[in-house]
Amino acid sequence: MGYEEFYRRSIEQPEEFWAEQARAIHWHKPPQQVLDYSNPPFRKWFAGGETNLCYNAVDRHLGERGEQLALVAISSETNLTREISYRELHAEVNTFAAVLKSLGVGRGDRVVIYMPNMAEAVFAMLACARIGAVHSVVFGGFAAHNLALRIDDAKPKLLICADAGMRGGKVIAYKPLVDAACEEAASPPPHVLVVSRGLDPGYNIVEGRDVDYAVLRAKHEGARVEVEWLESNEPSYLLYTSGTTGKPKGVQRDVGGYAVAMALSMWSIYDVRAGQVMFSTSDVGWAVGHSYNVYGPLIAGATSVLYEGLPTNPDPGIWWRICEQYGVRTMFSSPTGIRVLKKQDPSWLTKHDLSKLHWLFLAGEPLDEPTAHWITDGIGKTIIDNYWQTETGWPVLSLMPGLDLKPVKFGSPGLPTPGYKLRVIDDNSGDDVAPGQKGVLVIEPPLPPGCLTTVWNDDARFLSSYFSHFKQLVYSSLDWAIRDEDGYTFILGRTDDVINVAGHRLGTREIEESCSTHPSVAEAAVIGVHDELKGQVPVVFATLKQALGGESAAEAAASMQQRVVEQLGGVARPARVYVVNALPKTRSGKLLRRSLQALAEHRDPGDLSTLDDPGALEEVRRALERGA
Ligand code: ATP
Ligand code: MG
Repeated sequence: MGYEEFYRRSIEQPEEFWAEQARAIHWHKPPQQVLDYSNPPFRKWFAGGETNLCYNAVDRHLGERGEQLALVAISSETNLTREISYRELHAEVNTFAAVLKSLGVGRGDRVVIYMPNMAEAVFAMLACARIGAVHSVVFGGFAAHNLALRIDDAKPKLLICADAGMRGGKVIAYKPLVDAACEEAASPPPHVLVVSRGLDPGYNIVEGRDVDYAVLRAKHEGARVEVEWLESNEPSYLLYTSGTTGKPKGVQRDVGGYAVAMALSMWSIYDVRAGQVMFSTSDVGWAVGHSYNVYGPLIAGATSVLYEGLPTNPDPGIWWRICEQYGVRTMFSSPTGIRVLKKQDPSWLTKHDLSKLHWLFLAGEPLDEPTAHWITDGIGKTIIDNYWQTETGWPVLSLMPGLDLKPVKFGSPGLPTPGYKLRVIDDNSGDDVAPGQKGVLVIEPPLPPGCLTTVWNDDARFLSSYFSHFKQLVYSSLDWAIRDEDGYTFILGRTDDVINVAGHRLGTREIEESCSTHPSVAEAAVIGVHDELKGQVPVVFATLKQALGGESAAEAAASMQQRVVEQLGGVARPARVYVVNALPKTRSGKLLRRSLQALAEHRDPGDLSTLDDPGALEEVRRALERGA
């Protein structure tokens, strides 16, 4: 079946469509109702059905593919690689589940996981899923305060952490951060389970609270723990959004709908089936890590490659070496990751045999056209821009090579994926805008399976964050978009990032895109800065590629301005261009435009708890003082 028909069925006959997709997973008890939409916009997919994510990801494959690799965990930090078959994964997860039970964790209890990209993080997640505990993975790079906030929101019965992580060869001790977070939190967990990698052998042990995983693992090795069958709409996990625009929201996911969405997306979007290999460069702490490092590939019976380390360590060919070594079919990364490589020698892209690699998906941030061209030409593969949100759990816009590959249009993540009834509407009137016109991208409810069911413990915030922007009941993505005549959607940036120059509303993305066409530019961030005369003017912060080719930063800045004027008109002309060495980003690699804007307007940069590199913000501060 081709894309058009498949998508049309998902919209016109949603219940038949999803009932069919639901057959891809194992149900302990079949659903009684495909969709219960008696309380809009809350909805229940596969109501009454009973299933389990761990059973679908692990146990179900034992018969046919017990000896196949389920997980390959590669670390260029510790120089260790672990290859784990489905049978071994089953054993590890059972042991871990027995350990959890021995610590009093059961169905519905929350468990915070604070670990780097290591195999035990995956075991811990699946072990929670097995016994019906609700995991909340907190990205290992977050500071104690971020962790404390999430602890207080989730109120976990247990926190699982590693002794330490590593980044660029440097050991980052986690345990002191956990201790500080437990101090700060109003409701700290009664137990902390430490998975020691021997990176920080002398870590502090709090008597009565801290337990060593190695000791309990030895005690429970070989244990078998029964799968807890959950009603389809019980919570499976919590995951906080990236916090680019403010306080992160605790996205709550269900069990059945999520499993079905994972199964569908794996074959139809990512074109990965049982026995094939998927490599996602994400951290398990992000939405991509949950869906396409853990649940998606494993539910599909595929092999998932997990990577701990920088894209440039030991050299900028590491990702492609992994693709060659494990015969990766589909790779998943982010535009930010590719822009890191763009600063390196492009010959690294062609040193490895990529004959098995079919697709590279990129998500998380706008994929600017120059970067898309650079990587397409560099590796000679189809690059697929993927648009989604932590909230949705899987792509909203994508091409679907597992069905049939529609033409790639650079700058666009393509077409709606099954079940997503998308509209682009005027932000004032709420009416649909014409093709080619800018509006807000919204999803007509009910949201498809896989998307968030609510904000943890806060139905009111679920409604106010996503459903209160328009008079009709629609889910607002909070992103600007344009849909062209062919139905391809272009994402223009976040609704709170728009720049208003003398009444002209400009998307940050359009100007960034235009700056990036300059051959020396690696990355550009554009913000609107208050201006007495025009209301706001665009200001650019840009990083340059290593080889400047004799051109000075000032020359590059001037020609960026010129390009914007040529491509978008005088109204979009950047008032100032600052060339810096690094741009402030969140830990998940998203530009923190709100902080740039605050600094440029001499305001407090706001909540910086998700900031990755404080040095980048300092540099911006200095650049502003120096002047453009
Ligand atoms: P918060 O919601 O806490 O402010 P966040 O929106 O950055 O954080 P995520 O869920 O990680 O949290 O990111 C989703 C957002 O990332 C989208 O709403 C969109 O703005 C941006 N995004 C993701 N993929 C793409 C893409 N392919 N093209 C353009 N923008 C994208
Ligand atoms: Mg968001």
